[in-house]
Amino acid sequence: MTPSLPVTTLSPLTDTGHTTGERLPVLLIVDDQSANIQTLYRAFSQDHQVLMALNARAALEVCEKQAPDLILLDIMMPDIDGYALCETLKADALTRDIPVIFVTAQNDEAAETRGLEAGAVDFISKPINPAIVRARVKTHLTLKAQSDLLRRWVYVDGLTGVANRRHFDERLTQEWSRAMRQGTTLSVVLLDVDHFKRYNDRYGHLSGDQCLRTIGQSLQQNARRPADLVARYGGEEFACILPDTDLDGAMHCARQLGEAICALALPHAEAGGTQVVTVSLGVCSTRPSAGRGDASDLLQTADQQLYAAKAQGRDRACGQLLD
Ligand code: GH3
Ligand code: MG
Ligand code: MG
Repeated sequence: MTPSLPVTTLSPLTDTGHTTGERLPVLLIVDDQSANIQTLYRAFSQDHQVLMALNARAALEVCEKQAPDLILLDIMMPDIDGYALCETLKADALTRDIPVIFVTAQNDEAAETRGLEAGAVDFISKPINPAIVRARVKTHLTLKAQSDLLRRWVYVDGLTGVANRRHFDERLTQEWSRAMRQGTTLSVVLLDVDHFKRYNDRYGHLSGDQCLRTIGQSLQQNARRPADLVARYGGEEFACILPDTDLDGAMHCARQLGEAICALALPHAEAGGTQVVTVSLGVCSTRPSAGRGDASDLLQTADQQLYAAKAQGRDRACGQLLD
């Protein structure tokens, strides 16, 4: 069996970094012929979780919902063929790290070249030899697990297990471009723990660290959509990217995140009225368009709104539309 390193889901950072000991590797088999799927299913079902899709659209849906570790992909399919599907997967930050192996009846060099150029890691001709396919899949699952681990080191905040600032900055730039291309709204939420200096002074720095971990996990659990990103922005500040979300939606989300932290009821005797740890949130939404500012304007406005939330008494969210 392949090593069960923490296999990432859709994004390198959608979970909190804990290893998942007994989890079977998840394979997605995409082929329009169910007989072909059956053959591969038999080769892998014993020690893998096997998902199946009969066309590209269904495959994309499975990728979004179930984040396979590897995809075995047919080339000739009606509507969207395997090359196009592979290119789509590789163009999306949420799916590009899933290795794709073409398994196809087309066994000429041109097809193989095209498949590898579309971003596949390997190319296997039908009829398949199950032992060889298994061996190749095992190799690529191991490589995937290793690169997931590296990504985790590079992109995860060591204290809280959520995305770090580097990952936040990269993703924000990507989401800005995507929103511009698609004409959608992009929102960010900045969140700062209230009276956290007093918390450290009263309960000690180690308890402060634990408090930040608990807050990070709460944010991760309460960020609903797969594309939402929760990150530690620095110190006792966190940030969320909410793609395709307007100001109303983002304010709703921000309030929910704040309420969830309040509901944790982490005692904070120096917090003023509440007696529990609370947060203040600043929200900004915009519809990015060419020649009108960049992602840093979004952050700056969210920061001003965070400042306003503090000035108005903390434990609340303030937001602004940037247009
Ligand atoms: P405000 O409500 O205005 O945000 O007040 P505050 O005390 O939270 O803000 P301030 O910026 O004065 O203090 C932030 C504190 O957060 C000070 C710093 O020691 C603490 N802090 C930052 N990073 C960490 C960390 O990683 N662990 C711990 N325990 N504390 C941290
Ligand atoms: Mg602060
Ligand atoms: Mg603070």
